[in-house]
Order: sequence, then structure tokens, then C-alpha cells
Amino acid sequence: MRNDTRPLLSVRNLRTSFFQDEGTTKAVDGASFDVFPGKTLGIVGESGCGKSVTAQSILRIVDRPGRIVDGEIVLTRADGSEIDLVKLKANSREIRSVRGGDIGLIFQEPMTSFSPVHTVGEQIIEAVLLHSEVGKKEARLRGIEALRSVGIPKPERRIDEYSFELSGGLRQRAMIAVALSCNPRLLIADEPTTALDVTTQAQILDLLRKIQQERGMAIMLITHNLGVVAEMADDVVVMYLGKVVEQGKVDDIFHDPKHPYTKALLQSIPSIDSTPRLKLPTISGSIPHPFNRPKGCPFHPRCVSAIAGRCDVEEPPLQAVGEGRKASCFLYP
Ligand code: SF4
Repeated sequence: MRNDTRPLLSVRNLRTSFFQDEGTTKAVDGASFDVFPGKTLGIVGESGCGKSVTAQSILRIVDRPGRIVDGEIVLTRADGSEIDLVKLKANSREIRSVRGGDIGLIFQEPMTSFSPVHTVGEQIIEAVLLHSEVGKKEARLRGIEALRSVGIPKPERRIDEYSFELSGGLRQRAMIAVALSCNPRLLIADEPTTALDVTTQAQILDLLRKIQQERGMAIMLITHNLGVVAEMADDVVVMYLGKVVEQGKVDDIFHDPKHPYTKALLQSIPSIDSTPRLKLPTISGSIPHPFNRPKGCPFHPRCVSAIAGRCDVEEPPLQAVGEGRKASCFLYP
């Protein structure tokens, strides 16, 4: 049964900006969404739409000169208490207990995420020691178990290897083992399969699904790959230029997209029914430079349905366009 009455994580009106000499970049500009226990939320959009900065904001690891300027990120902890992560100091003991403890993170490229001078085991053991009151021997046993649970063969031996000694698929599995070593209730997966070949991609997605079923964990899946979202997600948030432009259930978004940007993204996926040798439709233009945000609807310079005199002047609010669905577009009054 779906336990969706109370979100595990509730992001409200999140704004994260980067303050540079050249100007201010609004990387996340008023994003709101919920992640429910045991469910997968897919966050999709092109590169530069604010997906990864949203994840970094949740974990309070936004690099300077960036900072959260407004909003709430409310996490319901295991004991039922609520905590607003925005109010915590980025290096406080409390946020460090949330990182890895309540929320695990896996990155796109494990090669650059693992330390090359420490073994995989040392990095898992460090995470276990930080979040659990166990000794080194028990932490090592937990590390071996974590590697075994993600399907790494001979984990007793692999735990003493360095990340560069593992293949791409095994490295990503080891990264998942590090993220899961402290039993987080939410896993943020930032483009977890982008750097992998398709066979390994499918294996990693199967693994994530299996782990989710076993542990009842929520997943926030950040990707530009709509195929991955269709396979994995229950709910979808579509972002464009730091804003949420559409959100809803995965079936609704895929079968009846409302926002012209979501429609264009879906049309650009190859389908088995596509006419052979016909060019796939693309979205004309590119995401505007962040210092040069267009006035009005942020998508209007690329939108085939733009209404002259309105879309280039006013900004559409994100509003209900059906049961459990929202979109920000003037086509839906
Ligand atoms: Fe296109 Fe206008 Fe809708 Fe923006 S508000 S997506 S420009 S139709």
C-alpha cells in the first residue's frame, strides 16, 4: 500500500544562486516537490537546468560562490521529527549526520568520486564509523556485506582494492555500496548510469530497484534520460532553467504531457515505431545563458506554441492542470 500521506522530503520554493563578479546565476529558482517513502521521484531536464544543484542544495554541499537564498527543505527523520536542512550550517554535526545517514548520494562518475589513494573498503568503513557506533572490525564486516549486497563478487578481497582496479560497472556498484552502507532512507542518484554502457546501465537500474524493494527506500533519480525515468520513476519533476515546469505521475507525464518543453523532450526520444531514416525532432536553440534569462516564460524563445505579447512578457505560475498534476504554461488557464 502506498504510504504517501507524509513526504519523506519536502522541498518548498528552493532558490539557490551563484554570486559571481559577472552577475548572479539563479541555478534553482523556486523549485517545490515532495519525495515519498519507498517511491522514486525522477528529476529530468537538459544539462544546466538545475537538477544537480537541487541535489547539492538538499545535502548542503553547494560550492561557493553558490548558496541557498530562500526556501525550505524539510526532512522527516526516522523518529518522526522534522528538520529544515536549509536552517542547518553546511558543516554542522547535524547535517553531517543527515549526509550518509538519512540521505545517501551516488554520483554519475564514481572514478572521480572515490579517493584514488584509499581502498574502497577504507571509504566504506569511514562512512560506517561516522554514522554507527561500531568498532573497526564490525565496520569492515558491514563493508563486506554492503559490497556483497550490490553483487560484487569476492567482496572479502575487493574491499582492499582501489577504485581504479575495478571495472566501470563494479565501480558504480561499489559507489552504491558506500551510499547504502548506513541504510539511508533516501538515496539521491545523480545520473547514476550516464557513464556506463547500456548493458551495465540495465544491471545498475535492476540493482537499484531490487535494493529499493528490499529496504523500502525512497530514491530521487536525477537524469536527462527519459527512458531511465520511464523505467524507474513513480513521479516526475521536469525542470527548465532552474524552475519546475511540470510535475505529475510518470504515466500521466509520458502519455499526456502538458508543457511544451516536456512534449518536445518526449518527441526527441527514438521509438521502435519511428519511421526509419527519419530525423528525430529536436528542441530548437539551447538553454539561454544564465546571465541572460529571457523575460516572461523561460522557455518562450524555444517554444513552438509561444503566444506573442504574453509568453515573452509574463511568467506563467506552476498550477494544477489535472489531478495530481501541475504545469507552468499559459496554454492551460
Ligand atoms: Fe510556451 Fe507560452 Fe507555455 Fe511558455 S507559457 S511553454 S512560451 S506556450
